[in-house]
Amino acid sequence: MKIGIPKEIKNNENRVGMTPAGVSELVKHGHEVYVQATAGLGSGFTDEMYIGVGANILPTIEDVYRISEMIVKVKEPIKPEYGLIRNGQLVFTYFHFACSRELTEAMVKSGGVCLAYETVQLSDGSLPLLTPMSEIAGRMATINGAHYLQKTKGGKGKLICGVPGVRPAKVVVLGGGVVGQAAARVAAGMGADVVVTDISLPLLHDLSINMPANVNTVYSSTNNIITEIKDADIVIGAVLVPGDKAPKLITRDMLKLMEPGTVLVDVAIDQGGCFETSRPTTHSEPTYDVDGIVHYAVANIPGAVPNTSTTALTNATLKYAVALADKGWREACKADPALYKGLNVVEGKIVYKAVADVFGMPY
Ligand code: NAD
Repeated sequence: MKIGIPKEIKNNENRVGMTPAGVSELVKHGHEVYVQATAGLGSGFTDEMYIGVGANILPTIEDVYRISEMIVKVKEPIKPEYGLIRNGQLVFTYFHFACSRELTEAMVKSGGVCLAYETVQLSDGSLPLLTPMSEIAGRMATINGAHYLQKTKGGKGKLICGVPGVRPAKVVVLGGGVVGQAAARVAAGMGADVVVTDISLPLLHDLSINMPANVNTVYSSTNNIITEIKDADIVIGAVLVPGDKAPKLITRDMLKLMEPGTVLVDVAIDQGGCFETSRPTTHSEPTYDVDGIVHYAVANIPGAVPNTSTTALTNATLKYAVALADKGWREACKADPALYKGLNVVEGKIVYKAVADVFGMPY
């Protein structure tokens, strides 16, 4: 199969659809891979590295789309890319259709086959192509929280790990899923005093057994959250209610209970955020202040570490990309129910019920 890796054109997106290691695997399976010139540079992968594993470099995005039967990328196509996708062409990427009627209509019109990373789902309900980004965002949430705790960054002026004779910072993590566990583990590794809250008692049970000794678990109720945030230094929002907006666990009134310079990191901002005062921010302007409390709410945290993110993404997508290339999308999806769930739009029809329902479009 002819496979294309275009350069991402969304603002500030430095990730790329596949690392040279991933391309090498596709080439070994007898496929032809076409990479757009400089597509990997933002992630630290040069054209020479791709050529070295057998890829062909093409100068423009149009060239890549024209020649390829399957496109592997990172972000959903944006306007200038809509017209490049043609009837029957397979596009394997994050789409997040429910967030954009315009994108959904454009993909229906294109006649392309849209296989969305975010809805590929294993039988236990987990989302294997979303997990790597959550693992990164959770780790980064703690690292950034620690950074903004510095006085010069608007924080309380506390060192997260403390020093002999001085207590470490207290980190409260709301939601103990993939993001929350990653955040808690890094905070614990840095020596912080960590509290994880969740509404799932079985999950809290597992965490209390498997997390380091400086991580405590607390059931997530408003009362308990109020108690925990009063002396918190960093609060990380990592809740998810699948298919719904994030619940507002910290209201504006509750900010008054916290000490000035406390840092709120709202990872759940892509679902609307779990702090009432959150609004999405960018890597160029990541924080703002409300009532003396620092808010960090970057919507694409993994974008700050494109080398790690691209590599983690390829690790997760590669086996599916190989199956799609080897068998074609019809056979590959027939053979793998997880991959089948990734199909959202197929040759002019929406085939993922939740997407059709959001826009009242035919399914
Ligand atoms: P997950 O499903 O693994 O975990 C979510 C957890 O929240 C679950 O354990 C659930 O029980 C818990 N929860 C639900 N309601 C709660 C409540 N009221 N109080 C406490 N806990 C509650 O999800 P995840 O992969 O960890 O993702 C968490 C959020 O982070 C999602 O919104 C996801 O989209 C977002 N995310 C953002 C970025 C970013 O760059 N900003 C990157 C990756 C993920």
